[in-house]
Amino acid sequence: MNQIYMDYAATTPTDNRVVEAMLPCFGEVYGNPSSLHAFGQEAHGAMEEARAKIAAFLGAEPEEVVFTSGGTESDNFAVKGVVYANRKKGDHIITSAIEHHAVLETCRFLEAEGFKVTYVPVDGDGLVDPASVAGAITDKTILISVMHANNEIGTIQPIAEIGRLARERGVYFHTDAVQTFGQLPFTVDELNVDLMSASAHKLYGPKGVGLLYIRKGTRIMPFMHGGEQENGRRASTQNVPGIVGFGKAVELAKASLSEEATRLAAMRDRFIRGVFERLDGIRLNGHPARRLPNNINLSVESVEGEGMILSLDMLGIACSTGSACSSSSLDPSHVLLAIGLPHEFSHGSLRFSLGRYTRESDIDAVLETLPQVVGRLRAMSPLYAEKK
Ligand code: PLP
Repeated sequence: MNQIYMDYAATTPTDNRVVEAMLPCFGEVYGNPSSLHAFGQEAHGAMEEARAKIAAFLGAEPEEVVFTSGGTESDNFAVKGVVYANRKKGDHIITSAIEHHAVLETCRFLEAEGFKVTYVPVDGDGLVDPASVAGAITDKTILISVMHANNEIGTIQPIAEIGRLARERGVYFHTDAVQTFGQLPFTVDELNVDLMSASAHKLYGPKGVGLLYIRKGTRIMPFMHGGEQENGRRASTQNVPGIVGFGKAVELAKASLSEEATRLAAMRDRFIRGVFERLDGIRLNGHPARRLPNNINLSVESVEGEGMILSLDMLGIACSTGSACSSSSLDPSHVLLAIGLPHEFSHGSLRFSLGRYTRESDIDAVLETLPQVVGRLRAMSPLYAEKK
């Protein structure tokens, strides 16, 4: 069976060129990068080369890039690190209702620790209004954290504007750029951010490695305590193969960024048009224009997301759903709830995310298969029969 992977927002395959760049770091360049001997220095050199490449891509200084174990750690580090280091100044955090759990659960943990958190709402397209962020700032606010683009519905936030407001009020600003780093062109100065999270496995790099950009002068507590690695900010021997792979992944992304974004957006738009031509009772979730070039999030009336996912999987098509599989009620995700998805659409959400290896023929195949799957499930759905 021909398999079609359309879940690039969950993770990407590691590019063969990235694997090749990593291989020598296992058996040849294996020294500890903190060691002073030649073995250590060789590993240190490879790691610093990757750091310099990534920093240049971000328009940052190499010392402002701290390597972590992934996006989740970077989000935890940014939020906890800033609020604990600035506790004397205030105890208030502002974030949005549609952040990734890595930020939301960190905020909930901090609420239990005595911090206060404002979760600003989003509109029906998933957009944060910078005026509501500005309106939530008090003299106790020490951090604002708003994601660059949402992983489920793909909406891209007005980060530069929120960053400008944060700077005017002297509040640190963090963005989770896990879904945009290597996908959209930007520098940290263009976004007006003090802190930014990214993860290698979303841009054809290896899993288990990420980074936190920390603007020079930011007061932040170290995330891991121990050795002096990463300038004392994140103890533990660095993941040299992962970091070298991350560097290579960034180099590859940089080389094809704008052409790839154009190619993906054209396929995305053809996909969306094609689904609307073939099916009724469909809704596009997320902003129609301000959205990730590879994201398609649809709700299908009167069918359940999990049923569609499993049927598509049996036919070799991999995508994901925004209905929580962990809950027996199949409740929609916090993101779909926050955009106020109408009740009849709330259970049947599908996210297709395209990437480097997606071809036009894959779009054709899904456009042919999806209406058949929906038709079959609707034929069995009492909800759909009632509606008709
Ligand atoms: N933030 C966003 C927006 C994400 O999409 C993800 C991964 O799905 C993460 C954070 C977590 O990244 P990681 O899997 O590297 O921990």
